[in-house]
Amino acid sequence: RLTRMASVSRFLALALLLLSAGCWADTQEFSVSERFWKEPTINCRIPTWLKEHIIVDDEAEKNADPCTSSGCKWGKWTDGKVYIPYYIASHFSSREKSIITRGLESFSSFSCIRFRPSRSTDRDWLSIESRDGCWSYVGRRGGKQVLSLARSGCLYHGTVQHELLHALGFNHEQTRSDRDNHIRVLLQNVQSGMEHNFRKIATLNQGTPYDYNSVMQYHRYAFSSNGQPTMVPIPNANVSFGNAKQMSQYDIARLNKLYKC
Ligand SMILES: [Zn+2]
Repeated sequence: RLTRMASVSRFLALALLLLSAGCWADTQEFSVSERFWKEPTINCRIPTWLKEHIIVDDEAEKNADPCTSSGCKWGKWTDGKVYIPYYIASHFSSREKSIITRGLESFSSFSCIRFRPSRSTDRDWLSIESRDGCWSYVGRRGGKQVLSLARSGCLYHGTVQHELLHALGFNHEQTRSDRDNHIRVLLQNVQSGMEHNFRKIATLNQGTPYDYNSVMQYHRYAFSSNGQPTMVPIPNANVSFGNAKQMSQYDIARLNKLYKC
């Protein structure tokens, strides 16, 4: 009887784990320097035991999704670099490709992240395509992973960096677990049904401070239903935020910290 009880409770634990591994999709509106677009983000909780190539990390990371401590980080090669294969869809023009490439290559200048063209032998890789809006999965998903940069509205340096940071495991700045000390969210001004964009995530917050100039910070009127702000900075309500055109020094610092560059 005891053995039976044990196996039942093991089954229940497994079912719970599988349930918690669910994925969900959000549609979000985001602006870098007053440009607006739809951004559906798909988040997944992936149990540790499902992932191979787990990078065990005992250190807490900044603004990084909790999944980064259980396997959604990209692996590091023996030379200390993190090589991430990418493919740029052929439907982009050469001008558009050069904007994307500039964003990809910018990471080489300030971190150990190296985006490189994919090969047929690559197992996990980014497929950069023009789909509906600017969006990315959070962290490494395994296998082919689409990152969308719509030809209309997404081909800006800051946007390319923003979506790549999602793929590297980062969430929006205003979802940080410590955001209530820096941003007051005014849910009464948020479009109904869009409140989830302002939910907090149990991000791992050591190191760099909350950053109004992060390329991952939404703007003051994101998802406003009535033209009133949906976020107000604390303590000085007049501080500008959410206007970054490229990664800030803190964006760079937290990336280097997460990947131990
Ligand atoms: Zn985003």
